[in-house]
This record gives sequence, structure tokens and C-alpha cells, in this order.
Amino acid sequence: TFTVGVIAVQGDVSEHVAAIRRALVERGERSEVHEIRTAGLVPTCDVLLMPGGESTTISRLLQREGIDKEIKTHVQSGKPLLATCAGLIVASRDAKDDRVTTLDLVDVTVDRNAFGRQQDSFETTISIEGMDEPFPAVFIRAPLIDEVGSEVTVLAKWEDRPVAVRDGPVVATSFHPELTADFRVHDLALFASATTQ
Ligand code: GLN
Repeated sequence: TFTVGVIAVQGDVSEHVAAIRRALVERGERSEVHEIRTAGLVPTCDVLLMPGGESTTISRLLQREGIDKEIKTHVQSGKPLLATCAGLIVASRDAKDDRVTTLDLVDVTVDRNAFGRQQDSFETTISIEGMDEPFPAVFIRAPLIDEVGSEVTVLAKWEDRPVAVRDGPVVATSFHPELTADFRVHDLALFASATTQ
């Protein structure tokens, strides 16, 4: 049984839970999915997901509840984390916005809402390293990844900009993989190399 934690202080939680369940059914694995709003559950999780939403709010609530430290410990012990959109902003090294206290789990800097300034939301097809077929990527007021650290692998680009990266056990995307029926990003990021406790 995989114990999966979805950070649920704010943002699009239910779609991620559905994608996780589909991915684990496909693998023939059992799942126990916790929606995390308070401290205490993260240490029981094999894998973690931090969804999109509003990064300033997510950041504030993670600190208030003391979940921020637990997420750091999870990643420091080498366990998988998938961070999407606002989750990427919170997981980044620097979001260049005082209202977001970043967790510094992915060695990238981001520009909040950068894509959204040109076009609020759009869907496109991207190719992702490790996948045979293209992936449908939905961008909603998406952050732009600026600087990428030397230990970071760029997994996907769109118009020459990184939109999916890996830094050790963390995969982060500026798009929303939970908004299509395709659960390959969840599978790749969370379950391809994970072990259960
Ligand atoms: N731009 C939003 C933020 O700064 C993120 C958008 C999203 O998660 N869809 O939090």
C-alpha cells in the first residue's frame, strides 16, 4: 500500500486525488490517500503532492500549521514530491515575492503568473523526458521558471522555457497535470521509483 499525502490547505485537491488513484489502480497497487491540512500526517506518507492554487495562501497556511518543516524533512529523506503550479512556486528556491516563503526544495527561481500576463490559460502538447507519447499540458496563470540550478534536470520545455523539472526526489511542473485524464506525470513523479514504508 502506498500512503500518499496531498497537501490540501488550499487549491485543486480532488483532481489530484483522482489522478493518484487511477495511477495506482493501473499499477495494481493499493492506496491510502490523506488530504493534509494539519501537521502530523506528512511523516506517515511515502509520497507527497503539493497542488496548484494560490501560492501566497498555501505558503501562509503551511507555515501556520507547521506543515512546511514536515515537507522539508520528507524531501530531505529522499521521498518523492510532485509540486504543480502554485506548488512549484512554494517549492522553489526563490519566487521573488515577499508574500511567499519558499521551501527551497527545487533549485529554480520562478516568476509568478508570468505566462498569465500574456494569456490567462491555455492547453498545449509537450514532450516530457521519460515518456514515449506527448503529454497534454494545461497552463493556468502559470509561473515561469527562470534560473535553473546545475543539479536540476529539465524534463520538458515549452517555447524554449522549462515547464517541468526534476531536482532529486522532487518533480515540479508549471502546468496542471491533474486537469486531463492522463496520469503519467503523477505516475512518473510519485510512483516510478518510490518504495512503501
Ligand atoms: N499564479 C498562481 C500563484 O501565484 C498559481 C496559479 C495556479 O496554481 N494555477 O499562486
